[in-house]
Amino acid sequence: MGKDIDRIVARIGELRNQIEYHDYRYYVQDDPAISDAEYDRLFRELVELERENPELSSPDSPTRRVGGGLQEKFGKVQHHAPMLSLANAFDEDELRAFHKRISNLLLTTDIDFVTELKIDGLAVALTYENGVLKRGATRGNGLIGEDVTPNLRTIRTIPLKLRADSDVPEVVEVRGEVFLPVSAFQKMNDERTQAGETVFANPRNAAAGTLRQLDSSITASRPLAFFAYAIGYVEDIEFRTQDEVLNQVKSWGFATNPHYCHHDTLETVVKYCREWEGKRDSLDYQIDGVVVKVNRLDYQRKLGVVSRDPRWAVAYKFPSDVAITRLVKIGINVGRTGSLNPFAILEPVQVGGVTIRLATLHNADDIRRKDIREGDMVVVKRAGEVIPQVVGPVREKRTGEEREFEWPPECPSCGAPVSREEGAAMAYCINRVCPSQRFESLNHFVSQGAMDIRGLGAQTISKLLELHLIEDAADIYSLSDEDIARLPGFKEKSIENLMTSIKESKARPLPRVLFALGIRHVGERVAGLLAEHFRDVERLMAASQEEISAVPGIGPEIAGSIYSFFQDETNRELVRRLGEAGLQLRQKGTAVVEGPLSGKTFVITGTLPSLSRTEATALIESAGGKVTSSVSARTDFLLLGESPGSKLKKAEELGVRPISEAEFRRMIEPNVPRAQAEDTTTR
Ligand SMILES: [Zn+2]
Repeated sequence: MGKDIDRIVARIGELRNQIEYHDYRYYVQDDPAISDAEYDRLFRELVELERENPELSSPDSPTRRVGGGLQEKFGKVQHHAPMLSLANAFDEDELRAFHKRISNLLLTTDIDFVTELKIDGLAVALTYENGVLKRGATRGNGLIGEDVTPNLRTIRTIPLKLRADSDVPEVVEVRGEVFLPVSAFQKMNDERTQAGETVFANPRNAAAGTLRQLDSSITASRPLAFFAYAIGYVEDIEFRTQDEVLNQVKSWGFATNPHYCHHDTLETVVKYCREWEGKRDSLDYQIDGVVVKVNRLDYQRKLGVVSRDPRWAVAYKFPSDVAITRLVKIGINVGRTGSLNPFAILEPVQVGGVTIRLATLHNADDIRRKDIREGDMVVVKRAGEVIPQVVGPVREKRTGEEREFEWPPECPSCGAPVSREEGAAMAYCINRVCPSQRFESLNHFVSQGAMDIRGLGAQTISKLLELHLIEDAADIYSLSDEDIARLPGFKEKSIENLMTSIKESKARPLPRVLFALGIRHVGERVAGLLAEHFRDVERLMAASQEEISAVPGIGPEIAGSIYSFFQDETNRELVRRLGEAGLQLRQKGTAVVEGPLSGKTFVITGTLPSLSRTEATALIESAGGKVTSSVSARTDFLLLGESPGSKLKKAEELGVRPISEAEFRRMIEPNVPRAQAEDTTTR
């Protein structure tokens, strides 16, 4: 017996140390060493042991604290009331246990709930005095946070002044979650990759890094967003329910999550949790669960707070989207511009119901910064449609056998020497006829945003190269029926289809052709700028580097890349042959497109029945209209699809007219040949 208790004491001490350490890694360094799931296991084991052995509980146990530690660089702010964290429920049984627990305490089963999506961002507290934002702070350790007011002021969804017809409370502290939308995160990482900067591991990391910027202009350049979900402290107002709280903050001008929901019974709560577990990838922000709160505030007060958790709420956590596995080897693939891209080859592991074998590693700097080595046990994270990524190594599990990453001296595809500037994050294969580069640039050429040649997938391209039927993009346009018939699986009908899509691709406008060429740093945006400015490939090819960088929106690095691309005789020859094949090398029409939508500004939200965003944008622009990303007073129409985001609400507030895809099609009808409209709907 004595031995048993010794073992328990030792285990509790060990767990407390480990949790303290991992809190530090997660909260202070923003660089977790273990997965959330593993952390939760440690935490629950400690809670369990302390519950079974109350004599061993201690005021300095991490279970008694409200979080992690502090960074030193910002001022400190004491919260009006502690920012609590929530107990977790990992399945339906635990939700029912929560219900039973509170029913017993309240002596009734007639309890209504509010559910809110649990956004994977950063909790902040905003203090308003007489309706004016005075101070915004991070959660910190729950009692004391960091003063990040200038950064929070940059977030558009946080009102600087409360909107109110009548009196506002003298002091109110509003709480909510700051996050970075997934689309903004991906765009930001794309830009950082293009600029040769290190990329962020996930939206939460990017949001944390952004919120803790000492230079708030950097914060302002990144589109952080905010949803309010609670009032931490208020003078002069008595609320009766969480519903009322949400309605109040909404009326003060805060964004609240549109998916929050009131429930009369636990059954619909369970259904809501199950439903969102399946739909979590459909949102433009990452969620890791559902927060279930008792709606009545008098009940909340009655239930109170135990240790670090309020008893009146629980966080239903979705199955973990992270796992730990061995990184067997760091592989390299060669991109279309010759860039060498490292990726992780993993021991297969299940993450959120999917088996993962490969994950991205971004670039060598990132590998160095995270100190990822071949042979390491690593934390792998999968989030939505995003390619799985390696979050970092579990250094505690190292054996000494791990190998640090080194760039290969030769291209793994063609064996040519690799070029790399000292200290640069990227390395390149400079062999123009490198098979990997050739394959990747052809894949890019035919892709959806470029020439969009349907039926010409990676396997077909690979086969065409193997049979020496094509060597570059221009060769695609001299393929014959007989050539295609040599490919496995192609029959009369599929040959005809492929020939048709190749022919149709010749009509793609100049910006698409420029994008398809795969010039380093030339994405769809830059391609559009070039086409609009030079209007003719001949003029672009004749332009000096200075002339190119004089185009608004094109910096010297991009200009240099474009200039040297067209200095290369092989590339000039390719462009000439593409012109001979009948591709559009001149910008069509006058500078400003006139059409039925001239002068009209559109915003697109949700999933349209038959059009992709790119297609809808192209249709609007070809009819003379303009597409912007956010709703403002200048927006004329909101093109509305399935599961729209917060834009719909904004549009309603501003009186912007929402239209369906069908209405939209009627507006542009005169401009779109019937056949084309049908073609896009039957796709
Ligand atoms: Zn190569």
